[in-house]
Amino acid sequence: MFCPSCGFNPIPEQATTCPKCKCTLNAEAWSVYRPASMRLRFLAALIDHVLIGLLASGATQWALAYIHTHKHLRPHQTLLIGVLQTSLLLIAFVLVTSIFSTTPGKSLLGLKIIHAKDGRPISFWQVVWREGVGRFLCMLFLPVGYVTAGLKHYRFRTVADMLAKTIVVKKRSPRAPH
Ligand SMILES: [Zn+2]
Repeated sequence: MFCPSCGFNPIPEQATTCPKCKCTLNAEAWSVYRPASMRLRFLAALIDHVLIGLLASGATQWALAYIHTHKHLRPHQTLLIGVLQTSLLLIAFVLVTSIFSTTPGKSLLGLKIIHAKDGRPISFWQVVWREGVGRFLCMLFLPVGYVTAGLKHYRFRTVADMLAKTIVVKKRSPRAPH
């Protein structure tokens, strides 16, 4: 028997949890989804970053125009506008991700974020961990944070995924199960 999620082989017949990736072996999700490859995840991240970049620059343009027309604003008020709009963008991103279990870039490529153990839908707090704490740590320790994303046995999960107990998956095509 092999693990339907990470491919680990062999697994004892009576096992209910994969000794390698710790997923629930009989979860329905693993027959529907496979771990998304690093190439697909990289492309999705690229699309998301361009989109967020565009949104952020739009928001900055708006803030600059607002500050320009309200010249009486003090420096700390200007700073507050910047912090507010950044937080709003972040909250919006986390909300959209937790509601749809995907990001715009991922959804374009047919990718989805699910619970790493049994494929359950992700919660709001998992997204907060993944995008907040996890992403921050990945950026701090860049090579270490992403090195696991290149490994099949880790199901291409980043450190952010491990912290948040999430996995990025793609629907299996009916013809090629792997
Ligand atoms: Zn496994």
